Order: sequence, then C-alpha cells, then structure tokens
Amino acid sequence: MDSSDFLELLRALTHLSSTQLERAQQHIQHHLQADLLRQSFSEHHADEPISCPHCHSVHVIHWGQSHGSLRYRCKDCLRTFNQLTHSSLSGLRRKEQWVAYAQCLKEGMTLQAAADECHINLKTSFRWRHRFLRYALTTGATKLCGIVEADEMFFAESFKGSRHLEREPRKHGGNGHGLPPLVPVLIALDRYENETETVLLDKSYQQIAPAIEPLIRRGSVLCTDGNQSYIQVAENTGVIHKRLIISDKKRVEDEVYHIQTLNNYISRLRGWMARFHGVGTDYLKNYLAWFRMKEQRRDDAKSWLSGGMKIFTNT
Ligand SMILES: [Zn+2]
Repeated sequence: MDSSDFLELLRALTHLSSTQLERAQQHIQHHLQADLLRQSFSEHHADEPISCPHCHSVHVIHWGQSHGSLRYRCKDCLRTFNQLTHSSLSGLRRKEQWVAYAQCLKEGMTLQAAADECHINLKTSFRWRHRFLRYALTTGATKLCGIVEADEMFFAESFKGSRHLEREPRKHGGNGHGLPPLVPVLIALDRYENETETVLLDKSYQQIAPAIEPLIRRGSVLCTDGNQSYIQVAENTGVIHKRLIISDKKRVEDEVYHIQTLNNYISRLRGWMARFHGVGTDYLKNYLAWFRMKEQRRDDAKSWLSGGMKIFTNT
C-alpha cells in the first residue's frame, strides 16, 4: 500500500464507532501475529545452512510445503523433513495460535489463563508450555566469572502433572512435620547476568559440584553461605572463596563480596512462582529457566518462537 492510501486508511479510522474500533483492533492483532509467525519461519535457518536432521547431510532440496512450513528432502538418506523437524515445536498443531501463546509466556500466565486466551484446551496449553520451555533449558549460563554467588533454595516436592508416580522417593525424606519433602535447587549467578539453576537430589558436594564447577572461570571469587560443599568446589576450581555466614554477621566483605544479588533473585523468583500455586517437581526446571529468561529480558514472543523453532541435534 502506498503512503497516501495508508494515510487515507488511518483517516478512515476516525469515523469508526467504538464497536468498529474494537473489531479493527482485533483484526490488526490477528495480522500482527500472522506476520510475526511468518517472520519467524523465514528467519529460521537464515543464519545457518539447512542440513538433514536425520543424517546431518547438507545435500538437501526443497520438497514443497506442509502445514505452512517448508519441506525438504535429503539427497543422501532420501528422507524428508520440514523446518521444524527436531525442534521443540515439531508436530504441534494450530500454528496460528503460537504467537498468542508465546505472548502468554511473556505475561507469565497460568495454564488456564493461557488456554482461555488462545482458545485451546488445558491439555494443549500444558503440552505447548513445556514444548516452548524446552528452549529455555538450553539457555542457562555457560560460564560464571568475576564475583560468583551460589546458594540453594527449596521447593515443596509435588507430583502435579506427573506421569511417574511410582518413582523412587527422594533421599532426604520428609521434614517430620507431615509436610512434603523439600527439593533443593542450586542457583548460581555472577554480576554479568550469567545465571544457572539446577534441581538437585540433595545439597551434598556430589550433587553441587557437577552443576557448578565446569562453569566457574579462573580468577573468579566464589561467594556462598555456610554450606561446606563449596569449600571443595572453590579448591577444585582454584578460586578464592568468601563464606558469608549470617550468624557471624559477616554478610558483606570489602563492600562487594556478598550474596545479596542472589538473595534478591531468589526473592523475585518466589514472588513470580506464587501464581502457579506449587509446581510439579518434574517440571520445576522448566519454570526456573522460564523465570531466568524473564530476568534476562529474553522472554518476548519473538524469542519464544524462534527459540522453539531451533533444531536440537542432540534430541
Ligand atoms: Zn539425510
């Protein structure tokens, strides 16, 4: 549309009734969503050569379209695949609602609210949420440097949404007051917005070390509370260790060594999680990663869509 026609269209809006304005808004919203979906599809693969998800060959040819996404055929293994084969969103239907769903993730909506918003049922809402969140799981910190803060936090164990009710009980057992056992989560972050979270079986060195040691860069300073496991972590990674034990009133050393950044992060996380009224332990890591994406401002609809379309070669 040329600019004079466009101005004409905008002028025409001034003559609309309230009801008509509302309908126009719904139409625009619909077109915006369709446009964002198209963009995500066309940008997908733009920065990497298309390779066969089955045999990784790059000898692929176009093979028409299916359900709105491009189809390809591999000249080596002769199998066909589409843009989304081996991506988190592979096989999900009703693509026209994906943008709206990605926006619900941005808003931190509950499953039911997102289902209502996107006119899908609760089961689909659940399935879509965890498919979109798979991408979030791949975006945790790959390194921690400078002043690194680490601590554990705890969530009540829950079997909500679980298909594995028969699994082994957790080692740490109950807390003796008839309340559900607590699941420890290690949160570690630095002052450069590198953040990582790991659901642990218990807070032993054996659980903590593999979650944090590979990430800590040389020359960092590790700040923790009293958990003795971190003494060994600091030794193994060759970094200085500041133990800030609250009972010693040593909460801040030299004005910079503290775990307040982490404590604040944890308190925002708790506040944000409250709306979900308890999260199934099997899905806890997804929610933790979702919150991290929000904190890092990587949770807009576009990020969720293009992340969901990424190919995971190891799945
Ligand atoms: Zn192939």
